[in-house]
Amino acid sequence: MSDFIVSARKYRPSTFDAIIGQFSITATLKNAIKRNQLAQSFLFCGPRGVGKTSCARILAKTINCEKVSENAEACNECVSCKSFNENSSFNVHELDAASNNSVDDIRKLVDQVRFAPQVGVYNIYIIDEVHMLSAQAFNAFLKTLEEPPKHAKFILATTEKHKIIPTILSRCQIFDFKRVGITDISNHLGFVAKSEGINAEQEALHLIAQKSDGAMRDSLSLFDRLVSFSEKELTYKGVIEHLNILDYDYYFKVTDAFLKNDINALLNLFNEILDNGFDGHHFINGLAEHLRNILVAKDESTLKLLEKGDALQQRYLKQSKACAITFLIPALNLCNECDVQYKTSNNKRLLVELSLMQISSIGHQMAEKKSPKSFVVPENHEKVDVSVETTNKIVEKEDKTIENHKKSENFTGIEKEDFAPKPISRISLSANKKSKTISISAAFDRLNQKKEEEIDISKLRKTDFSAAKMLKTWKEVIAFVKQKGKTNLGITLGMFPVELKENFVIDLPLSNSSQAEMLIEEKDMILEFLRNKLENDYIELITKVIEAEKSNIPYTNKDKFAKMMDENPHLETLRLKLGLDPDY
Ligand SMILES: [Zn+2]
Repeated sequence: MSDFIVSARKYRPSTFDAIIGQFSITATLKNAIKRNQLAQSFLFCGPRGVGKTSCARILAKTINCEKVSENAEACNECVSCKSFNENSSFNVHELDAASNNSVDDIRKLVDQVRFAPQVGVYNIYIIDEVHMLSAQAFNAFLKTLEEPPKHAKFILATTEKHKIIPTILSRCQIFDFKRVGITDISNHLGFVAKSEGINAEQEALHLIAQKSDGAMRDSLSLFDRLVSFSEKELTYKGVIEHLNILDYDYYFKVTDAFLKNDINALLNLFNEILDNGFDGHHFINGLAEHLRNILVAKDESTLKLLEKGDALQQRYLKQSKACAITFLIPALNLCNECDVQYKTSNNKRLLVELSLMQISSIGHQMAEKKSPKSFVVPENHEKVDVSVETTNKIVEKEDKTIENHKKSENFTGIEKEDFAPKPISRISLSANKKSKTISISAAFDRLNQKKEEEIDISKLRKTDFSAAKMLKTWKEVIAFVKQKGKTNLGITLGMFPVELKENFVIDLPLSNSSQAEMLIEEKDMILEFLRNKLENDYIELITKVIEAEKSNIPYTNKDKFAKMMDENPHLETLRLKLGLDPDY
């Protein structure tokens, strides 16, 4: 074990071309070297572990190399390159501003800058986490940065560009490093595994890449940690056990059960998940992610958003063919509702179970609608009442209302007209009257009586009305809710001018997300009032948080946390260690 070198160090890139996932940056730097048009000072910004320091060191090495290749890479053979590679070069000076941020630290560095290098052409000063420098240290440094000697180059690196003062920004050539793509990371891990003689499953590497959130260095540390448990064998199963990740296999099974409306299977699967120590909230969010992946897999143009290994991608493709879009969107909506209600629910398990049953019931209806003749009724399962044809589901996604496409028999992807706002009634679980899930759906009906009502589309009112009339009625809504004692809601509704759009859609601007959350709860009441007053059941209400109004005042806990993090980035580490959720 004594000669164990961590992979992040052992496989640190030594040429520009070996840097993963920052092609545009390395290409720009190489071009500048070729043309001998290198800036004096650089600012490398971007998340941690994406290659900023590696890139700075390679740049330092390359501009001091005696035999730079035509491709603007260091030769790695000359005296200068060798001393760089052995970390013994006198030409590079690194300062970690996170721990050396005083005026004295920076003065020491500034004093050195005057001296020309004894070997090589340039002295390179790399200041990591430069945003941590104290104000005085910044000032002490500024003068040097303004008039540096020709033999000195500065490379400043930071994870927090917004904290760098404009006077520094304006003196540097700025490079924004991106998070490294999952596929790039997993390919690189594959390379490392191969070099180390480790037998690694592609899915396992993919999972590690996914977990490391675009940071190559983190992915390599995680890789090392997992390898140390696993004796040169890295399996998908081993990784999900060690990282405590819920196996995606569960989500595929759950979705299959939805499509068959197999409530027993759903409840058993969920029970198994809980038994394995996962919580319901984690599960429901994972399910939403899975359904989103299926949605993405439905169309060629969005398939690239699905960053998965090949084998997994094929599975998603296959399942996406079995899922109608008219199932996926309401299902996602239900997952979202469950997510929102989770923290405040007294019976969390029941909440998730009910959501699963609710989603399952859409799956069944859709399957019926999609191909009524070929649909195979599962054993012990009577066919659903045909009257479901008349029932639909309200779907909202951001500010679009999406309708269940009643004629969608050969659906292939998201079509434009699906996003046209149209009115629809709610899913009726009582449509399952004849199925064996009757008792559960009846219970569900009781719990959600307000939400679930059967509506015959032919009886819907559709009286035309003017924008002026709508505005007048809107004032009545405000008076009505205030009269009910909901003063806050009344104020919120009157805060910005509402607007009547096409198809009886009313746009309601809001100033922040907590107002939007309040609206979710009160929306049914408001809609009922509007629809009755204006005699139009097609009225929809769409809320929109106004960008410009997203002021710096932190409203939600999440915003507050983000603000606190700005002041002390270590809070995030603490949050991760304690497993806290800033949402609530
Ligand atoms: Zn060289």
